[in-house]
Amino acid sequence: MQVQAFSPVTSYSYPPQNDPVPSGAGSPSNPMAGTGAPSAGRSAEHPDRSDDAYASYVRNAGAQQPLSASQLNQARRSIVQAAQKSLGRLADPHTAETITKTVLDALSRSQTFRDAVSFGLHNDAGKPLADITYRNEYALNPGSSPMVGGMQDQPASGGGGGDMQGPPASGAAVGGTQSLAAGQPQDNDTGNRSLAPLNMAAEDGAGRPYVSFSVAPNTNSPYMPLWEEGLIHEIIHQITGAGDPANASPNRLGPTEILARRIAHEMGLHIPDFRGYGAPERNAMLDQRNAGALREAAARHGSDAGNLFKRLDTISKGHDASPDFRDLGTASAANHPQEQYTRFARAA
Ligand SMILES: [Zn+2]
Repeated sequence: MQVQAFSPVTSYSYPPQNDPVPSGAGSPSNPMAGTGAPSAGRSAEHPDRSDDAYASYVRNAGAQQPLSASQLNQARRSIVQAAQKSLGRLADPHTAETITKTVLDALSRSQTFRDAVSFGLHNDAGKPLADITYRNEYALNPGSSPMVGGMQDQPASGGGGGDMQGPPASGAAVGGTQSLAAGQPQDNDTGNRSLAPLNMAAEDGAGRPYVSFSVAPNTNSPYMPLWEEGLIHEIIHQITGAGDPANASPNRLGPTEILARRIAHEMGLHIPDFRGYGAPERNAMLDQRNAGALREAAARHGSDAGNLFKRLDTISKGHDASPDFRDLGTASAANHPQEQYTRFARAA
């Protein structure tokens, strides 16, 4: 697979085409024929990563090597540790907690997710779940902002939801001296679209995989099920190497979304059905989710919302913000139960 190095983000050549085998992977023989072989999955025979059939391939390959009890325990620990490592790149403690809870839920409730995690452990096409960290990167005026490389989903309002590869970004999501505060939603604003999350699976300059995703909505928000499913979608990109349909097909979901929806159903999440990855109604709903989550995050921080947007600005420029969230201010701290606030801060 062709990999282009952008600074500071390394881009996947994406969607992968006519190159189903990672460079350096295996022999032309078919190790999948032997169940339980340590090299299972390094097959030259698997479907293209953006074909719907790749979803079944991942499930079957993962199911051949079920996670052991100790691997499951290690995975649980690594999920908590990943969120802790990510604190300086996340908007607030609630988002860190919600990422942790969502991934732990997926691991405990979804056989499909466990199979995908196993796939990531045993196949060159995917990354170990433990290696992934998380970020809340946003773009200002996303329709015209510099794009970073990577597997990007739902890039902008009305943008069609296609994967995008752009020129090397000189900062990260936000260039120059622009501040995200300019895109801060106003009270009762139901349609602010000037600030959009970079929902994507990417690698940093050192080749370490990360998922950038929207800030978390409130716990009982109507946007929560779609947020959880969307987070899982980005994780599936990383741990399986699955792609999305080329040209943002309105009639086909693609393997990543097929797997993410299956996991969401096994988790008991209620999410609407869509015709395809690029279906207008899906894009519209993801736009609403992104905007709604951001509004709820701003409301969580009350009079400190300005600090939240300053923090998002720092994160979106590719820098670490304070891992103990002290930059959010006192109103934010008052809005979070102290024990969760300090639990994350202590571990940072
Ligand atoms: Zn995707």
